[in-house]
Amino acid sequence: MTDGGRRLVYMDHAATTPARPEVARAMLPYFSERFGNPSSLYALAREAKGPVEEARRRVAAAIGATPEEVYFTSGGTEADNWAIKGVAAANRRKGDHIITSSIEHHAILHSCQALEKQGYRVTYLPVDEFGRVEPGAVEEAITEKTILVSVMAANNEIGTIQPIKAIAKIAHDNGVPFHTDAVQAIGAVPIDVNTMGLDLLSLSAHKFGGPKGIGALYVRKGTRIGTFIDGGAQERGRRAGTENVPGIVGLGRAIELATADIEGHNRRLAAMRDRLIQGILGTIPATRLNGHPTERLANNVNVAFRYVEGESILLMLDALGIAASTGSACTSASLEPSHVLTACGLAPEHAHGSLRLTLGDVNTERDVDYVLSVLPGVIERLRKMSPLTPERYE
Ligand code: PLP
Repeated sequence: MTDGGRRLVYMDHAATTPARPEVARAMLPYFSERFGNPSSLYALAREAKGPVEEARRRVAAAIGATPEEVYFTSGGTEADNWAIKGVAAANRRKGDHIITSSIEHHAILHSCQALEKQGYRVTYLPVDEFGRVEPGAVEEAITEKTILVSVMAANNEIGTIQPIKAIAKIAHDNGVPFHTDAVQAIGAVPIDVNTMGLDLLSLSAHKFGGPKGIGALYVRKGTRIGTFIDGGAQERGRRAGTENVPGIVGLGRAIELATADIEGHNRRLAAMRDRLIQGILGTIPATRLNGHPTERLANNVNVAFRYVEGESILLMLDALGIAASTGSACTSASLEPSHVLTACGLAPEHAHGSLRLTLGDVNTERDVDYVLSVLPGVIERLRKMSPLTPERYE
């Protein structure tokens, strides 16, 4: 990859991915030639309506759902907001308690906090040192007033994959619906809403080779959930607003491509991931892997370097043409240590020195070689400058 002729090694695919060329090509006609509003009643409108419904079928097929259970949204954040707030509103008479994990994306955490201000009660389950939720903890937290359990399928910062099938079973055994934020899992973890027992699922196209600003919420038939956006009759009256037709078409094509060969895709990425992890831990002292050693996304590397600041690592890597992240993209502009890393038990000063490298289709073994060739020097220089670095360390 190049950036204005400069070498660019993009290793921030958890933040966003480039749209695949096939996806961009599929979207193009819907901006100008086939620009009709799908709700109108003439041929031009039907030219837009048909592809919207085709995309709905593709999303449904990718997760084992029926097309009527798929609602398009503006992305993962909206899908998460709708799942949490919509289920809470529809079940207010039944109960006021929600269970989630302490390492969710802010789209979930802040939605839960907004509900707490309205009088709902939320349990934020702890995680172990690898970022896993213990299914037994869900069982213990459920009360007669619990109306939703929401645990993410895979974490965006540390890549830890959660035992969502086991958690969903516990929720169902207690008559409680289960939602999962699968924004990082689509195309990386095989998902079947029926065998996994999912009632609601959030996804977002730009995380798997689709465009930004489009996503979907899967809602199992019969699940009680309130309307999220009032207005016209789009999305069966539950999410109003003229459809983002190019985005929806792009989402449909992207999810089809991303789920066609998950195993092959993961095999290629995991080989690069493991070489990065071993190379970093093997050559740079006072370093630890964040997240689970095996139950982790094939594209995720997250390491904590003692005595350095993640922001300084990013700036030096950027100067060398490497795009990476510390914490999550949304929190990296703030000075708070990552809530995910601190929930895993990292001291704030260690959490601050974390680096996330997330791989994707565009990466090659040469990119891995390049990162491994420059990173030890970057960390060494920063440690020499840092007042926190002791005389000797291992
Ligand atoms: N949930 C998770 C786990 C994410 O990683 C993200 C994006 O970073 C979101 C939700 C929000 O998705 P979107 O960017 O489509 O709003």
